[in-house]
Amino acid sequence: MKILSGLTLEEIEKITDELKASKFRARQIHNWIYLKSVKSIDEMTDLSVKFREELKKVVCISDTKIKMKQESSDGTLKYLLEYPDGQCVETVLMRFDNRANLTACVSSQVGCAVNCSFCATGKRGFIRNLTYKEIVEQVLTIQRDTGLKVTNIVFMGQGEPLLNLDNVLKSMEMFNENFQIGARRLTVSTSGIIPGIERLAGEDMQSTLAISLHAPNHEIRKQLMQIENKYPMPELKKTLKDYIAKTGRRITIEYLLIKDLNDTLQSAKELAAYLHDLKCNVNLIPYNPTEKNDYQKPSDRSIMRFKSLIEQSGKKVTIRLERGADIDAACGQLSGKAS
Ligand code: SAH
Ligand code: SF4
Repeated sequence: MKILSGLTLEEIEKITDELKASKFRARQIHNWIYLKSVKSIDEMTDLSVKFREELKKVVCISDTKIKMKQESSDGTLKYLLEYPDGQCVETVLMRFDNRANLTACVSSQVGCAVNCSFCATGKRGFIRNLTYKEIVEQVLTIQRDTGLKVTNIVFMGQGEPLLNLDNVLKSMEMFNENFQIGARRLTVSTSGIIPGIERLAGEDMQSTLAISLHAPNHEIRKQLMQIENKYPMPELKKTLKDYIAKTGRRITIEYLLIKDLNDTLQSAKELAAYLHDLKCNVNLIPYNPTEKNDYQKPSDRSIMRFKSLIEQSGKKVTIRLERGADIDAACGQLSGKAS
């Protein structure tokens, strides 16, 4: 039995060829999968009943199960998905009342090897990479379950996308070509894997690169993210400058604000100095508490103070709205466990 989800048009054409049907049938099936996101072959109503029966003998829609689904009071949906080998990941759908955008936050790995001190995903260690089909399947599952069409994708779920770049790039191509989601609506977030950023710079992609910087200097970053030892801030900056020069794209700097650790006046000054010659916007993320560490949320006052200081340095600054915290779907709260 072949799984239709994750197949390209050419791959679906091979199936229709085998069934001696026209290529136009393949196009119809492709639309039903990616744009209308049907749950069953019977819903493909522009195919004859006879052809649907033949199709059902050789293909099915998906092999991924929704193990759990939670809805937050703010409308955010969190799914725990199970792949055929029993591994699970989380995928989050964020809706913002005042916007038509529907953003899916997808996972790229089961677990994560980077093990940042503030992140729930890292606590599990690395289990395995997801295939591009498994990444694509997360968005299809959301679309099938809600009947809605996802418009934006952020690689901000579990895992480090740049440590699974082949599959991430292939999934981005699929989002582009099959889901008709423009590259500008795709964002890849990384903890700063230099070789991955260099490779991305060479791919002629219009997607957005987001860097989880989270610290104003080497000392603080080392404390928060072990990866700083391997890819330290001065080298990271050089890589980012090259990336910006090569792609012409503005990048996003993500900065997790933790009370008294990196939300001080001094930190804001150092961050502004580090960013002064980088073409970037800054996204401040107030820390979301997770188990097993004692970092604290910054106060509203210190968030606003930090924001104005960075704005005064000439950067556009946004504060990431907390979504789904009541169901542990907020940033860094995804652990991939059922409880
Ligand atoms: N591995 C990639 C992408 C997934 S993490 C990366 O680190 O960029 C998505 C974002 O959530 C990152 O910016 C991450 O640093 C942030 N995050 C992790 N733990 C968090 C927490 N406890 N509170 C708020 N944001 C967190
Ligand atoms: Fe991995 Fe990102 Fe979590 Fe760090 S913040 S452990 S890189 S998922």
